[in-house]
Order: sequence, then structure tokens, then C-alpha cells
Amino acid sequence: MDSYHSNNNLDTIFATGNEEDSILKAIDILKNGGLVAFPTETVYGLGANALDADASAKIYAAKGRPSDNPLIVHIADTKDVYQLAEEVPQKAIMLMEAFWPGPLTIILPKKDIVPDGTTGGLKTVAIRMPSHPVALKLIKESGLYIAAPSANTSGRPSPTTAGHVAEDMTGRIDMILDGGAVGIGIESTIVDLTGDIPAILRPGFITKPMLENIIGEVTIDPALINPDSNLRPKAPGMKYTHYAPKGELTIVEGETSIVDFTCDSEIITAINAIIQEKVTSGFKVAVITTEENAAYYICDNVLIVGNREKGETIAANLYSVLRQCDELEVDYIYSESFNDGELGGAIMNRLLKAAGQRVITV
Ligand code: AMP
Ligand code: MG
Repeated sequence: MDSYHSNNNLDTIFATGNEEDSILKAIDILKNGGLVAFPTETVYGLGANALDADASAKIYAAKGRPSDNPLIVHIADTKDVYQLAEEVPQKAIMLMEAFWPGPLTIILPKKDIVPDGTTGGLKTVAIRMPSHPVALKLIKESGLYIAAPSANTSGRPSPTTAGHVAEDMTGRIDMILDGGAVGIGIESTIVDLTGDIPAILRPGFITKPMLENIIGEVTIDPALINPDSNLRPKAPGMKYTHYAPKGELTIVEGETSIVDFTCDSEIITAINAIIQEKVTSGFKVAVITTEENAAYYICDNVLIVGNREKGETIAANLYSVLRQCDELEVDYIYSESFNDGELGGAIMNRLLKAAGQRVITV
């Protein structure tokens, strides 16, 4: 049988996730401790056997991920939670019933079979059941629990297509299963259920009101509300710079928050003036905007991320627009802010991280 115990200088296999042969090959690789990238409904994941500490270690090596940043364990059946978690409170059961399979990760006390190498030394484990058919098939047919962080180099935008994965991971992992562009485009909502009141550790497609509708009061990790404070986020990964394009990204906001799904013309005028100044100084500049406002910019690289009235389009395209900035090799990127709508919080959490919290108010 093939051995996949190294992930350096590998020939990465590219295959469509819809073919039985590809799934069988992927299962063989995972069972031998190798790495397979696969589509989920949120972003592409970089999978390894979650109960094999050596396999998990390869994920950290391939991504260049800090070792204290734990991995989410993916399962294909709700009852698998009981194999991984020491306690499963009633509220966890209610959330699992309401949102699984889907873009929700829950944090519970871990059982000893989950290695410290998978949880970054924490005594808790993050668990999710994804809804993407390729992900579910891979997990179910392998009979494994699969640790899978986003399949990008640490710090880069998460991958939303197999092409993005290939950019970062070719030669570093064993296989990439192509399932086309993902549907949601930003990572799962993370909810910690180990305290008295459930807490959101990372905002995502499942919003606070959606959670509260099922289990009552839910708090938000205070470190998320106040990113400039010295508070330590409870999800270790949230303290790192993430999703950053190579050019310097700045978010431009108005003094008043815009709630009517339009972007203030004063903001557009201000961004145009900044672009003009940079271009005159010889820099290459891009602007990130929406369908509504694109026509008003005077810039060679106007990148349309979506439509303000459909937040899900902005979430779906955000990371690929950030990667596009790298392809264009721009020096400076100016983005409107996208606070409006139900997904505004999750989108701005990612965009602010990508910008290293750099915001100018005009
Ligand atoms: P990624 O898989 O790249 O989307 O990142 C997973 C996120 O989940 C990171 O921010 C981790 O810090 C967080 N996470 C994973 N396990 C735990 C845990 N046991 N407690 C708190 N946060 C966790
Ligand atoms: Mg990630």
C-alpha cells in the first residue's frame, strides 16, 4: 500500500470530488496519515485524520500554522459528537438539530481520544458537521473524523475554489478534490458551549439572532467586539492576522454608519481623491466596491465584490477578490465597508482582519 507519511516535495494529485475513484483515493491517503483538501460549503478544508497526532502535525507544517491554533474536527453524523466530547449539553443538541449539517462549529470539552496536537493543547474540541456532499461523503465513507482548517497558507485569504487551494498547497499536500466554487465563502460560526452562557467566538453565516432563536441568550467574545483592546480572543486563531492581501488594504468609512444599502457619495469622492494621489505617486491601486457604486470610481482596478442588498454575494466573493488583488500586484487597496445586512458583522470581521484593522474615516 502507498505510504503518505511525508508532505514535502509531493506530487499533489488533482481530482474531481464527484468521482467515486477520487473519493476512494482520498480515503486511502487519509487513512495513511496524508493530507487531502476538499470542498465544504464555507471554504475549502485541508483534511487529515483528526485522531492521528502525526497527521494533524502535517496540517500545521503545510499551512505554516502556529501550533497553538487548534483544528476543527469534521464529522458526518450527529451521534459522532459523543465519541469526541466528554459532555454534550442540551443547548448543543438543540443547535446541532437546528443547524447541522451546516456552517456552525461547536466547542465542547474533549475526550482523551482527541490528541492535544489536534486541539492545540486545549482541553476542548471544536466540532462541525458540514453540508457539502463531497465533504460528507469523504467523512462518512472513510469512517474517520477529519481535522480540517481552511486550505490556505496561514495568513492568506481562505480558499473558495480548488484553484485557490492549488495556488497555496501544490507540492505540500497529497491531493486536492475539486468541488467547484463554494457556496458561502466565509468560515463557520464558532459557538463555545463550555460556559454558562453560550458565546460566539467567531461570527459567520449563522448569526446571533439565529442562534438565540433556538437557545436563548448568546454572548459575543468581548475580544471580538473590541479588537483594539488587549483582550485575548477565546478562539486562539482569532488573534492572528488573517486573510491579508499583499498590497496594503485600508477600509474607508463615513462618520455616520450607512444603513440604507447605499454608499455615501462623500466616501466615494474621498476614495477617488486618495486613489488619484497614490496613482500620481506611481503606485498601482485597486478599489473594492459593490455593483451599486462601481461606476463612480476613477481607478484602473475596480473590483466588484457583490451587491449591497445581497450580503451573501459579498461573503461568497470576498476572499477571491482579496486574492485578485495579489494577482494584479497592486500596492494599495481601498475598500468600502460592508456593515449592512445580517452578514455585515461576519464580513467586516474578516475584512478588518485582512486590513490589519486599518480604517480611515472620511
Ligand atoms: P479554521 O479551521 O482555519 O477556520 O480555524 C479554526 C478556528 O477555530 C480557529 O480560529 C481556532 O482558534 C478555532 N478553534 C478550534 N478549536 C477550538 C477550541 N477548542 N476552542 C476555541 N477555538 C477553537
Ligand atoms: Mg483559516
